[in-house]
Amino acid sequence: MDSFTLPITMTTPHTPPSERVPALDDLIVITGAGGFIGGALTRRFRNLGYMRIRAIDRKPLSEWYQRVPGVECLSMDLSEKQSAIRAVEGAVEVYNLAADMGGMGFIERFRVECLRSILINTHLIEAAWRAGARRYFFSSSACAYNTELQRDPNVRALKESDAYPAMAERGYGWEKLISEMFCQEYWAERGLETHIARFHNIYGPNGTWFGGREKAPAAISRKVIEAIDSGRHSIDIWGDGTQTRSFCYIDDCVEGIDRITHSEELIATSINLGSSELISINDLVSMVEDIAGIRLERTYDLEAPKGVAGRNSDNTNIRRVLHWEPQTPLRTGMEKTFAWIAEQFADRKAGKRVVTD
Ligand code: NAD
Repeated sequence: MDSFTLPITMTTPHTPPSERVPALDDLIVITGAGGFIGGALTRRFRNLGYMRIRAIDRKPLSEWYQRVPGVECLSMDLSEKQSAIRAVEGAVEVYNLAADMGGMGFIERFRVECLRSILINTHLIEAAWRAGARRYFFSSSACAYNTELQRDPNVRALKESDAYPAMAERGYGWEKLISEMFCQEYWAERGLETHIARFHNIYGPNGTWFGGREKAPAAISRKVIEAIDSGRHSIDIWGDGTQTRSFCYIDDCVEGIDRITHSEELIATSINLGSSELISINDLVSMVEDIAGIRLERTYDLEAPKGVAGRNSDNTNIRRVLHWEPQTPLRTGMEKTFAWIAEQFADRKAGKRVVTD
């Protein structure tokens, strides 16, 4: 019998959650582990002493951003059902960080690729439920929010209920919203404990910094470094620079994933995982200039993809439930990110292998 046609009564809905924290020898599966956040999460769990981690990504192993020693690493395309089944064999916890994604330049241009990530989550959650996994985490996005609420740079921070009535970002945002619903219904109907975080612009070392998928903090850092390196002291900015965002440092993100997944109050409940420190793109450029000790002439590309006018994370709920929220000040995180990209830039110039897509 096809393993996906088992009767759906095989688990009891609303099984009370067992211990909140997995044992150190429980198998943890992390998908998208060859990328930015999945790689950092793998490192976190390994550093916490977890001995059995299976890390999976579509990319060949040689292209992974991080390879964490002592971790089983597999290269598989999880949009294929049989790969998803193999991926979660024996898993106690599954963290789905795999998606075809990038910054605005990518998600505005490649909507079909973004939508096709629905296959990853659809196969993976079904396979996780059938494999009897105890918990399943899904990485959603602030792009799931109603775009009508983000037309003004002086935004009101987005609270979780603002996703409905739905008018998500075309392609990428709708995929996230429907995958969130899968997670909610697998809990309601089938008793698989799911957890959902809506990430707000995660940044930091070991992320994409060139090639077209990079996001604003990495792109601006790279452009400033290129301006210094070339001696042409100018920078082009996408949009008019007044668009506002909040940016969440990678260490806060992986700590947040861990806390959210092990919170009983946050089962099948979408929650913001982001910083509430709002900044305009113009001010972010000034911050990076300060870090680099330079001032650049600015040109504005008004035709370039720029996303919504403003977006911030309302952290009332995460504070109330977890008594925690992302803490790293943007300046501190940007200093570390800038230093790492400067190193990568120098390595690439010297012909060494660097993190890329
Ligand atoms: P990333 O691109 O660095 O990592 C995603 C990884 O998924 C890549 O390594 C890619 O090869 C892999 N992947 C894509 N398709 C796959 C497939 N079919 N099978 C197996 N692996 C596949 O991106 P990231 O920033 O680490 O994002 C991780 C997750 O967080 C994604 O779900 C993303 O949508 C979400 N997210 C990220 C941000 C952010 O600011 N970085 C914001 C919101 C949501």
